[in-house]
Amino acid sequence: MDRRNIELKIFGLIAGMAAGMILLAGFALTVATRQADVRERQYEQKLVENGLRQRGQEIQTAINPYVIWDEAVIKLDNAFDQAWAVQNVGVSVGDVLGNDVVFVLDAGDQPIYGRIAGKDVPLKQYAAYQAQLEDLVGQVRAIEADPRKLAKLRTVHKSRVILVGETPILATVSLVRPDLKAKTKGPRAPLLVSGISVADSVVQAFSDRFLLHDAHIQIIAAGRPDTGQAQRVIGKARDGRLIVMRWTPRRPGQDLLKSATPILGGAVLAAAFGSFLLFRVTRRAAKKLLLSEAEAKHLALHDPLTGLANRTLFTDRLIHAHALLRRKPGHLGVLCIDLDRFKEVNDSYGHDAGDQLIREVARRLKTICRETDTICRLGGDEFAIIQPDTDPAGAAALAQRVVEGLSGEVDLSIGRAELSCSVGVAVVSDADQGQAELLRQADVALYRAKEAGRGRFAFFEPEMDAALRLRKGLERDLRAALERDALTVAYQPLTDAKGVMVGVEALARWNHGDRGEISPAIFIPLAESCGLICQVGSAVFRRACYDSLRWSDLEVSVNVSAIQLSNPGYVDEIEATLAETRARADRFMLEITETALLKDSDGVHEALRRLKRMGFRLALDDFGTGYASLAYLRRHPIDKLKIDRSFVSSLPNNEESMAVASAIVSLARSLGLKTTAEGVETKGQLDALVKLGCSEFQGYLLGRPMPAEAISEARASFKVR
Ligand code: C2E
Ligand code: CA
Ligand code: CA
Repeated sequence: MDRRNIELKIFGLIAGMAAGMILLAGFALTVATRQADVRERQYEQKLVENGLRQRGQEIQTAINPYVIWDEAVIKLDNAFDQAWAVQNVGVSVGDVLGNDVVFVLDAGDQPIYGRIAGKDVPLKQYAAYQAQLEDLVGQVRAIEADPRKLAKLRTVHKSRVILVGETPILATVSLVRPDLKAKTKGPRAPLLVSGISVADSVVQAFSDRFLLHDAHIQIIAAGRPDTGQAQRVIGKARDGRLIVMRWTPRRPGQDLLKSATPILGGAVLAAAFGSFLLFRVTRRAAKKLLLSEAEAKHLALHDPLTGLANRTLFTDRLIHAHALLRRKPGHLGVLCIDLDRFKEVNDSYGHDAGDQLIREVARRLKTICRETDTICRLGGDEFAIIQPDTDPAGAAALAQRVVEGLSGEVDLSIGRAELSCSVGVAVVSDADQGQAELLRQADVALYRAKEAGRGRFAFFEPEMDAALRLRKGLERDLRAALERDALTVAYQPLTDAKGVMVGVEALARWNHGDRGEISPAIFIPLAESCGLICQVGSAVFRRACYDSLRWSDLEVSVNVSAIQLSNPGYVDEIEATLAETRARADRFMLEITETALLKDSDGVHEALRRLKRMGFRLALDDFGTGYASLAYLRRHPIDKLKIDRSFVSSLPNNEESMAVASAIVSLARSLGLKTTAEGVETKGQLDALVKLGCSEFQGYLLGRPMPAEAISEARASFKVR
């Protein structure tokens, strides 16, 4: 997914969320306000209902003293008293209590007294009320007729709003009952009808009392649809028309909405702004995420130091390029590059310098290669190049460019380093060989290039494979032999000029079994190249330590590889082995080669000093073959030079060899060093060397390398000093 797409998605998401939130808030608000309104309306409705009931009860309560009264029973039933009725019903219940209409009905429900609007009226005026009051009268009479019901009630009133003409009247029909002992003539008592016309002023008083807004009474045809106003049916006319009280309900929700609108508007704006901010923040975060994802991807496929492809990406590209061969015939080249002596730069200048050199190599490779080539750092100082669409000549040309490009001096922050590299090249033209095989072949060729002397390239040839396979097999076997502690040590005598054995040299021996004895000239370099030399050295030194205990008067020489010497833990290990075997350092001569001194690093120098302090003596092996200079000899605490066999073998007749041997002996003497001539095979050689002043001799003439037990026997044939 690309960034644009993701941004759009995020924006859509946030906008959708914001819109959703606003809609939701709006919806919630609408529902809430509507609910508030409905609740308020219900409340007002209840208020009106309760108010009407309360008003009715008030009216009834006010009437009670006039209808629950012995005197009323007597004056209205036992013997009707018109004057009493005018005074106590007309004036008191009517005018004083505020009833606009008052009628007294006898036991037969016929009017016997009437007063309307403060004036006594002819009884026939009741006709206008009779039909409307029929139900109320009936209800009261029904209670009266039921003794059990009547016993429970002190007062019997029935009220409702009736419609007389167009005037709604709150009418009450009350049963006149004795309060003490009076009794009605017959079974039925007189009834008092009272009515309050529900005029605007009444409604106004009512609505003021109950805080209704715009309350009024309306008479409407039955079934007429709601006008949206709040209303309460308070009565029903005989013709079916409804008497309703109407008012404009308060709408707190709407009010709230109105007062909240500016705030809401602000909130919507804020939400929009918030969403925008959120979008920006999220977009930035997403951008970062995308970046870090890209970074992670890059990191996963590239070498962090150089930015070149790493092994994973390399393998991927190789598989891809290899697959292309099937579709488009041609050649695919793979180059394996290894820096020569990179470890020395790393060891002597430090890792920072090593990193600088690696980066410089990467930079140069980029300028050497084409866009279509894939350059990869396989690890350490190993690089590889995939060269698609090439041929053997093209691969050779690239290899040559690499060898030339990665040569010469490189300026590092800490100093100058000599750069050179070896390149192995493999080219395939068909896809039948696996891509892994291609890389392996380039690696084999690289091996060969290094063996051939570094600073060059080599093409893979099938016969290299056999040699390499042999090597790999030997390497595996050597490892196994070391694990079984199967290496042995032979000792070769060193004698003085008189042929007296003064020392022995410990020489590693490996009986392979299948292949018989394998020469140290083969397995020592093998061990050095595959990282086993320290183990070999340790095994030989431990063995020599134990064996040294047999010969209290023999100096034991032990060969130490340059690699061992530059191993930081070497001296400590030697010390530990001495302690373990109880051998003495001053019984040993350590033979080091000139290449060890050539490194000339502080580490090697310090190791040699420590060994010297411990009591070891030091010999320079194979002297004369390398680059050893007088300066090295002065700088390091050397005790002896071993004149290389190559000079000795051509003695005594080769003048040049004589001159070299003579020069070495006099050099040693001038520096106070001893000399040992190696490879003395003839009496002539021995005599010549004795004459030159050489101090010790070693060779088949004086004794072949032999097992430790044989040394003791051999000594018997020499004159012991
Ligand atoms: P080197 O240190 O120069 O050892 C002397 C080599 O010369 C030995 O070969 C020895 O057998 C051989 N030699 C002695 N006298 C004569 C002679 O009169 N004529 C001839 N032609 N050769 C003679 P070897 O044992 O095959 O060892 C070969 C090399 O292997 C040694 O050369 C030494 O550099 C290395 N080496 C052997 N053992 C060890 C070891 O324990 N550690 C290390 N680092 N290197 C070892
Ligand atoms: Ca030696
Ligand atoms: Ca030697």
